[in-house]
Amino acid sequence: MIRIKGKAVSPGIVLGKAQLYNSEKIAVRSEKISEKAVEKEIWRLENAVKKTQAQLMKINRDLQKIMGPDSALIIETQSMLLQDSHLLEEIKAKIKNSLFNAEWAIKETEKKYLQVFHTIPDLSFKTKSNDISDVLNRLIGNLKKGGRLSFSAQPGPVILVADDITPSEAAKLMSGNKLLGLVLNKGGETSHTVILARTMGIPAIMDTINATDSIVNGDPLALDSVNGEVIVQPTPAVIAEISVKSEKYQIYREQLKTLSQLPELTRDHHQFHLYANIELPFESEIVQAYGAKGIGLFRTEFMYLDSKMSISEEEQYLIYKSIAQNIFPHPLVIRTYDLGRDKSNAAAPSREENPSLGLMAVRMFLKKREPFKIQIKAIQRANSSGNIRILFPMITEIEEIHAIKSIMAETREELLREGRYPKKDVAVGIMLEIPAAVQLIRHLADDIDFFSVGTNDLIQYLLAVDRNNSEVSYLFSPFHPAVIHILKEIRKEADKIGKEVTICGEMAGKCFQALMLLGLGFANFSMNALAIAEIKRVFTQVHYAHLKKIVARLDQFSSRSEIEEYLTEALLKLYPDLLIRQRLF
Ligand code: PEP
Ligand code: MG
Repeated sequence: MIRIKGKAVSPGIVLGKAQLYNSEKIAVRSEKISEKAVEKEIWRLENAVKKTQAQLMKINRDLQKIMGPDSALIIETQSMLLQDSHLLEEIKAKIKNSLFNAEWAIKETEKKYLQVFHTIPDLSFKTKSNDISDVLNRLIGNLKKGGRLSFSAQPGPVILVADDITPSEAAKLMSGNKLLGLVLNKGGETSHTVILARTMGIPAIMDTINATDSIVNGDPLALDSVNGEVIVQPTPAVIAEISVKSEKYQIYREQLKTLSQLPELTRDHHQFHLYANIELPFESEIVQAYGAKGIGLFRTEFMYLDSKMSISEEEQYLIYKSIAQNIFPHPLVIRTYDLGRDKSNAAAPSREENPSLGLMAVRMFLKKREPFKIQIKAIQRANSSGNIRILFPMITEIEEIHAIKSIMAETREELLREGRYPKKDVAVGIMLEIPAAVQLIRHLADDIDFFSVGTNDLIQYLLAVDRNNSEVSYLFSPFHPAVIHILKEIRKEADKIGKEVTICGEMAGKCFQALMLLGLGFANFSMNALAIAEIKRVFTQVHYAHLKKIVARLDQFSSRSEIEEYLTEALLKLYPDLLIRQRLF
């Protein structure tokens, strides 16, 4: 039995079997074959195509069970590519005419397609090239014995052990209902893979450094992501102990849910509001059970990751409208596609040298306006219940807001002409997540109705620390004095201009960080649904007046460690039960 420590990033306690996951592309060597071997090579290829089609159909069925019929789009594109006779004929021709092994023929054909697609500036071709690479990689995996590790290698649900996985891979795996837990060597606490795990209630630890070296496929594991540890080959005594803990933890979670009925007031009657962040439409059905009073952030880009770039206006309209009606009278904040950076397709990552400072989110879609217009139009059109708000990510300058507003006016006109405008304008908000935007708040405020603070990116850009890089994760601190300073600045400016502000980064769902935000004067918090009950438990336990006093003293400290230490100590002195979860388990 060995114990591997890691950072607990999505809470839970589970027992299960290990599945190592290798998302790397499979290395392929060129091998010459004889003319006699051509027929056999083509037979091998055709068999692999059949196997790949069967796998895609299965993934499609699993996705649909969890995410509903809309998810069909994700896999159908790849399946259609495999049915495309041109693509297969080209691969076969390479085998026949150049006498290459099937794997190499596939790689050569892929190269040719990608070269052509990359010369076309249309975004949909970039996605198409992602799909081609992904499906051909799967095809090669099915040709090679012992090639790509198949996720279904272990029967039954598993605990996935990986170096790191991309958000699109994670979405696919998690939707298959086969994931009990996640153990990552690397990762980032605010990475989208981890955010997705939290939303789906999948226990996860990261930053283990070497879990993939110490764990082999099929190893029994006990994952305790409350305390940040995975135990490999646990003894019967440890299994018994973990089973009891796991049961107790489930009961604790259920008890927390009963808090959803409590009013959103601190002990001294200071009002706060808790909303949910969602990544996929189906989650909207569960958030109210966790006590969310609306959806404060719908990260729509997750609908597109690993699928084709543009879902039609009609499809989007139906999705948005049904969520808005489900959640009514509470608000639904729909964020337009925040693509780019780590949210691009795994098979064809961004080719920019510095994607975090590059063409992303609104920047990308002000250049490629068609999918942006379609999304905005669908959002405006879906607002018949009047509770939809639109949110634009990664705003840097006022010109972007002007451009967006003019697109919104255009789509509004079009809808009015078509007789499809629901008469209710959507409220317009922007994300404050680039420090420059914070400095411009009072100017930006003229054209918009509300702000949403994305603390994940705000910290990343303010401190120049990659939010996904575990090497520098020690620096990614919400308690850095500069972070506190900028948050205060936001609060002060927003008060002056009287505009609503919501915090929607991961800070909103973390006990001490959220308490600090409450003390700084923020009242609207949007977080993963599972965190809502826990935050409600702590917020309803404290006095706002106490928090304000504690937070007012933070100015005297110059380092993140002093601030964190002081805040934790001061809060625990007044409210020793804040850490009850850690004490119980
Ligand atoms: C953020 O940056 O804090 C945020 C909420 O957006 P995302 O995590 O999707 O980048
Ligand atoms: Mg962000």
